[in-house]
Amino acid sequence: MTNLIQHWVDGAPFRGTSTATADVTNPATGQVTGQVVLADAADAAAVIASAKAASVGWGATSIARRTQVVFAFRELLNARKDELAAIITAEHGKVHSDALGEIARGQEVVEFACGIPHLLKGGHSESAATGVDVHSKRDPLGVVGVISPFNFPAMVPMWFFPIALAAGNAVVLKPSEKDPSAALWIAALWKEAGLPDGVLTVLQGDKVAVDALLQSPDVAAISFVGSTPIAEYVYREASAHGKRVQALGGAKNHMVVLPDADLDLAADAAVNAGFGSAGERCMAISVLVAVEPVADDLVARIAERTRTLRTGDGRRSEGPEVDMGPLVTQAHRDRVAGFVESGESAGAKLVVDGRDVRPVGETGGFWLGPTLFDHVTPDMEVYREEIFGPVLSVVRVASYAEALALVNDHEYGNGTAIFTNDGGAARRFEADVKVGMIGVNVPIPVPVAYYSFGGWKRSLLGDTHAHGTEGVHFFTRGKVVTSRWPDPAQRREGGLELGFPRND
Ligand code: NAD
Repeated sequence: MTNLIQHWVDGAPFRGTSTATADVTNPATGQVTGQVVLADAADAAAVIASAKAASVGWGATSIARRTQVVFAFRELLNARKDELAAIITAEHGKVHSDALGEIARGQEVVEFACGIPHLLKGGHSESAATGVDVHSKRDPLGVVGVISPFNFPAMVPMWFFPIALAAGNAVVLKPSEKDPSAALWIAALWKEAGLPDGVLTVLQGDKVAVDALLQSPDVAAISFVGSTPIAEYVYREASAHGKRVQALGGAKNHMVVLPDADLDLAADAAVNAGFGSAGERCMAISVLVAVEPVADDLVARIAERTRTLRTGDGRRSEGPEVDMGPLVTQAHRDRVAGFVESGESAGAKLVVDGRDVRPVGETGGFWLGPTLFDHVTPDMEVYREEIFGPVLSVVRVASYAEALALVNDHEYGNGTAIFTNDGGAARRFEADVKVGMIGVNVPIPVPVAYYSFGGWKRSLLGDTHAHGTEGVHFFTRGKVVTSRWPDPAQRREGGLELGFPRND
């Protein structure tokens, strides 16, 4: 009997009435391991209705009680994260340690959300005018939608739902149909933590489910993460339906290496950030900009390290451990291989060819090993496009100014890094570069949970980044209350006065 991966509504799995399903595959074996249900409009309406009904009571629940539930979720997650990591590896393919890493970064946001009482505090001004006090507060929005990509089935939803829930909203989570099981495991854990039924629901599906969320008058806000063309569509459509929206898109992250950098540190960083999670990270380094004269030496060090990497089934716990898993689907693997062909025919030098990979253990999966190109130029497709695979392109430039222009001229502006021992150069880069997240000798500068995550240019649509105080702002709406309480000992204030009220 097939494993049927369903929606989660009112604290239980929900089949819905749609008969459409999609295959869920283990990318390391190529075997279909389940079928995920794909919502139709009626199923989506049922899921949203459940969230809407639950949002009223949850929004009115005390901050203390809500915080206790978030805290209990944190404890359960921390105790049982290995279970979640195994689910991620089985459907995404990333190695177990990497899956644990994404859970740890998501858990940071849960821990941040445990501080929600402090984060929701408003201001108070006594006697702002004579006998008049003013205070501000932040209310929940109601129902919010979170639409997530395949590459972080736990961390990306966790950028949003801990804060949204702690702030008193109900959440409808629409995971990627490629790895939908993590969301169900998380929903069941929230129930165990004491979250009332309906406050977190999971809507499985594709464009039909997404459109239902974007168009529903009962959904107040959308947090989307995925590729830029879909992010742009989501931004337009959700805005047209009167919602607030943050839509995080694709990336092409450059790592600039200045001639004075520690080249071993830079080579380690380029390999880790280029090939970790098979390059399927929005903060992966996909372009290394070598400022001459270091390129020959640096490329040699990167190539030497790249050749030692073991690619294989990320579930492997015995025998040789593996560093990198498969790509998520056969179609994506073939697309990435197509970029390798494109780079070769455009004249880039293929230093390490991942198409030759011999995976450890399983062979039936979607394999493509770490691939290194040198002498890539900005007109090549491998440079311009987001490949989202284990392909690292080295571009050689003559100066810092040339390196900076490359980063700033690219259409994406998610993350970037500079490797140097010159503090002044790093400081100048930080000021000059048009990118949202910057690392100085740090290749994947994902901000800690109490700062906010987000790129510039076509890497983010909307003006609010994820998590941190920007996340709290996104999931709440401000109110300012101006009040006058007549002093019982004083003469009654008032009288007719039609002029615009002034403060004195
Ligand atoms: P994707 O855009 O294909 O899918 C993202 C979500 O949108 C999924 O839930 C999917 O079901 C839905 N979707 C797909 N097609 C749709 C359509 N036509 N209409 C409406 N909804 C649709 O992205 P993906 O392949 O799952 O993820 C990889 C992409 O996500 C990469 O581009 C990567 O850079 C990006 N990403 C960005 C960040 C970031 O923080 N900026 C983080 C992670 C991933």
